[in-house]
Amino acid sequence: MSKEKIWLSSPHMGEEELNNVKEAFATNWISPAGPFLQQFEAAIKTRCRVTDAAAIQSGTAGIHLALRLLGIQPGEVVLCQSFTFIASCNPILYERAEPVFIDSEKETWNMCPIALEEAIVHYTKQGKKPKAIIVVHLYGMPANMHAIQAVAEKHQLPIIEDAAEALGATYHGKACGSMGDFGILSFNGNKILTTSGGGALLSNNAKAIAKARFLATQAKDDAPHYQHSEMGFNYRLSNVCAAIGVGQLAVLDQRVAARRTNHAFYEELLKDQAGVSFLKEPDQSFSNRWLTCILIDPEQTGGISRETVRLALEKENIETRPLWKPMHLQPLFKEAAFFGTGVCDQLFDQGLCLPSGSNLTSAQKDRIANQLKSVFSH
Ligand SMILES: *Cc1c(COP(=O)(O)O)cnc(C)c1O
Repeated sequence: MSKEKIWLSSPHMGEEELNNVKEAFATNWISPAGPFLQQFEAAIKTRCRVTDAAAIQSGTAGIHLALRLLGIQPGEVVLCQSFTFIASCNPILYERAEPVFIDSEKETWNMCPIALEEAIVHYTKQGKKPKAIIVVHLYGMPANMHAIQAVAEKHQLPIIEDAAEALGATYHGKACGSMGDFGILSFNGNKILTTSGGGALLSNNAKAIAKARFLATQAKDDAPHYQHSEMGFNYRLSNVCAAIGVGQLAVLDQRVAARRTNHAFYEELLKDQAGVSFLKEPDQSFSNRWLTCILIDPEQTGGISRETVRLALEKENIETRPLWKPMHLQPLFKEAAFFGTGVCDQLFDQGLCLPSGSNLTSAQKDRIANQLKSVFSH
């Protein structure tokens, strides 16, 4: 019989979530309208300290809405961090705009401000000034926002912050997702909190969020009949999912603490292992440590690579994943331009995400520790 599977990051429900869902049923608020939606939005707003937040069906929808609100037109250049999950940039294609990918910096693994400015200067010279910047706080580590904001201000470009993986993380005390013109969160099943599927669009521009709610509900004009003057989307979150979200948000601090404890556990376990390194948390940043990631340099481990480790753990039914494959290396984006020196290519070659759920048990951690020790001792 095979051993029980240990997942990379599985949902972690409490009691309030189910009670809230029962209440949604009991009161028959099952549609994408109802009191939990408002409560969830208010709670997100308070937590992230933004003027307003719209609860929607996914983080991807949030990026799509942000691009529409910024008026991105077909053929226009949108700059996006290459080292990310594809959801950050697929919406650029939805709008038939042109994605241009930016390398990572070593300190945060997120967008390199130098490569960012190179790209802006390059396209501006060609008379094709980029229209927006999508920066990602990958794995819950805040990007180098002050440097990125300085570049954005110098060139008058709006910032969309993809904080899908970074709920609970802060930079100089500010919530990830609250610093750009728009921010997005995801409540997909693998994230630090989940509503089974869902997301939010954040902004300090209340009018823009009101417009986002309008666009997310098929752009219905104010009339007794169904009247539409603009193209909209069906992106609004269901009240049932929002009911789960209200319960989840109440335990966010515990979830962050558990993820950070996981990270500390792996750091302690592998601290003397030559060739294994971790992403350090800069002084100004507080990471939610959504996933613990390690870099494995086979030249220093005696030939043990991230694939050796991944396969050895897979044999024990322990799920791990290579770090995100950069977008400029994806077949879908083979025509897209890339600015940088290949920092994120190397992160992809050497990086591995370890099981990081906030519900990992100590028995599961023992199994992981034994297996990791055994791989590295061979
Ligand atoms: C999960 C994720 C998203 C999108 O979230 P969905 O809610 O699944 O659409 C966007 N960006 C990053 C970096 C993510 O990890």
